[in-house]
Amino acid sequence: MSFDSVVLIKQVPDTARVTGKAMNDDGTVNRSALPAIFNPEDLYALEAALEVKQRHGGTVTAITMGPPPACEVLRDALYMGADRVILLTDRRAAASDTLATSYILSCAVRTVGKVDLVFCGRQAIDGDTAQVGPQCAEKLGLPQITYLEEIVAINGRQIVARRNIGNGYEVVECAMPVLLTVTDTFQEPRPYAAKAMLKCKHARSRLELEREAAQSMPGSDEKARAAAVDQKAAELKRRGLLIEQWTLDDIHADLAWCGRDGSPTKVKRIQSVVLKGSGHEQYQPTEGDISRLVHQLIEDHTIG
Ligand SMILES: Cc1cc2nc3c(=O)[nH]c(=O)nc-3n(C[C@H](O)[C@H](O)[C@H](O)COP(=O)(O)OP(=O)(O)OC[C@H]3O[C@@H](n4cnc5c(N)ncnc54)[C@H](O)[C@@H]3O)c2cc1C
Repeated sequence: MSFDSVVLIKQVPDTARVTGKAMNDDGTVNRSALPAIFNPEDLYALEAALEVKQRHGGTVTAITMGPPPACEVLRDALYMGADRVILLTDRRAAASDTLATSYILSCAVRTVGKVDLVFCGRQAIDGDTAQVGPQCAEKLGLPQITYLEEIVAINGRQIVARRNIGNGYEVVECAMPVLLTVTDTFQEPRPYAAKAMLKCKHARSRLELEREAAQSMPGSDEKARAAAVDQKAAELKRRGLLIEQWTLDDIHADLAWCGRDGSPTKVKRIQSVVLKGSGHEQYQPTEGDISRLVHQLIEDHTIG
């Protein structure tokens, strides 16, 4: 029996490698100072889906919601072995909070059609809420297994999975279809396959082709650029290298649930917190000083 999986992958700013001022003066994120990367735990989610395909057959579809540069993570997914990749991009989805994001992603999963397993990372390193996976499961009416670290077995349509519960693990069993959120304690993601890289480095979405045409044909009129894009898109499609691009209309999303209108979370204030040492105190290795230190740590709620 083979299984069809969908993996939700997100492109995120690399918060560990800041190359300039991380925050703008208005409190928004300075994206140019943060290189964009594949959300780390989503690599493990993709690995889990590819592992199912390797053991049982089936297909792996990767979906990302974001602006055209997010195609980078879709190409990475192709290099690792995904069969199909979809860029979900629409200006009307901007300013979506997790509720709107999960609504939009769940509409996309439904649009894919028959799906046995939906994989997400446990958490994205920018938004950091870990809400999108569980919210998608709720909207899709699927059971969920969170903190997945091993697929122990698949027996018929029952999946046996090991969950990381912090100080140990738990083995659970669930009927498919099911949504799983994957942690970085799952087996290491596989490297890119050289053959897939050589082929799929040419994969582009239509929006990327439009951007490239604008750069390579400066001064040309709109009609000429559109014709060049049409020609290139047709050629990529013939070679199976045109990245599918969906809008909110393609997934039949109700606009009232998307973007700012569909987002009950309102950001009232953004504060950039910089942690600085405000001085130091010295303690001698005496009973009195150690007792003073312990009392101070209890008062600060550092220990207690
Ligand atoms: C009021 C408000 C306004 C916001 N406005 C914007 C905005 O204008 N632009 C913006 O970029 N962000 C915006 N955000 C952030 C945005 O809501 C979150 O980035 C997004 O909802 C995902 O939440 P998260 O990052 O906490 O994901 P988590 O819940 O931590 O992610 C868990 C998993 O869900 C999946 N996932 C999450 N997001 C995506 C995605 N986009 N595509 C595919 N899979 C995904 C991945 O598998 C991921 O590992 C806003 C947030 C709030 C509260």
